[in-house]
Amino acid sequence: MTVTDPRPTRPDTPLLVDTFGRTARDLRVSLTEKCSLRCTYCMPEEGLPPIPDAARMTTDEVVRLVTLAHRELGVQEVRFTGGEPLMRNDLERIIAGTRETCPALPIALTSNAVGLEHRARGLVEAGLDRINISLDTVRRAEFAELTRRDRLPAVLRGIRAARDAGMDPVKVNAVPMRATLPGAPDLLEWALAEGVRLRFIEEMPLDADNTWSRVEMVTAREVLDTLGERFDLHPVGREDPAAPAELWEVPGHTTADGAPATVGVIATVTRNFCAACDRTRLTAEGTVRSCLFSDDETDVLGVLRSGAGDEEVARVWRGAMWGKQAGHGIGGDAFHRPRRSMGAIGG
Ligand code: SAM
Ligand code: SF4
Repeated sequence: MTVTDPRPTRPDTPLLVDTFGRTARDLRVSLTEKCSLRCTYCMPEEGLPPIPDAARMTTDEVVRLVTLAHRELGVQEVRFTGGEPLMRNDLERIIAGTRETCPALPIALTSNAVGLEHRARGLVEAGLDRINISLDTVRRAEFAELTRRDRLPAVLRGIRAARDAGMDPVKVNAVPMRATLPGAPDLLEWALAEGVRLRFIEEMPLDADNTWSRVEMVTAREVLDTLGERFDLHPVGREDPAAPAELWEVPGHTTADGAPATVGVIATVTRNFCAACDRTRLTAEGTVRSCLFSDDETDVLGVLRSGAGDEEVARVWRGAMWGKQAGHGIGGDAFHRPRRSMGAIGG
């Protein structure tokens, strides 16, 4: 019996296209499973199972895979994440190496900012263009409870260092939780005073402890209602039609360059934007993941380590993305939580 592949034939293009008409141009690279915090919506108390050092991508391997993604596959932005990318002491070398081989590629970082105060300047000198920092509350006891570490002062120093090193804009991402929701207006007040751009992102079922519930999660609507108790927010739409963040202007406040200050809300769960998804991901072990919510991973590092040339690695990567699923389907009957949590995949 012949088994036929039900998928349509892949068009002859170098780009990372899929069967739903999307093209991935935004690459997220997880550099490590290690982290200085233990956010309850992400990591287990004891941290993630350690990846053997030999299995984690080296400096040169990261640079080579990012470079071929940019040159051969049409990737137009790379973001380094984790785990916590600052846990790698070769982060500056990874960024400098990427900058050298890909001078026009925007390089971004997602970080919890612990230790950033000592490295912000070096990261900018290495070629870092943009940074997103995660901070869910400016109340110290709440922060310690949520992250299981009393490190709020270090995070605040890191955020100021990023700004002082010239990173602009500094975006701050917050995952609203039941316990921190009442403090959301204080967080916005702080962001406005510090001149950083705050965005709330709905919690997804990607926590290692498996406690997420659709009923308990805080929705984007609830965040807006809570902020509305102190701020008279005006909707301004999206930065561009494909951007996931819906922006709200905060009247009476401006950014450093005089533009109206805004706050963003990203409704990852209640209003999914999978149809416009343009992401491709590499885990710290060098596997391609086409979607956060799919367990399918394709080992491109293994192909590279076997001695294959860039064209062969690119071919395998294209094949992995062609099979990308339509969307996450959270809340639907057919939804399955992925086996790996956010910190293990790379957020
Ligand atoms: N350690 C870095 C940090 O916290 O920014 C980078 C890795 S972290 C996994 C990347 C982003 O994923 C963070 O902004 C974090 O808040 C977010 N995140 C983690 N778990 C999440 C979840 N269950 N739902 C939504 N966002 C989550
Ligand atoms: Fe670490 Fe970031 Fe996960 Fe928090 S969200 S535990 S900082 S990887």
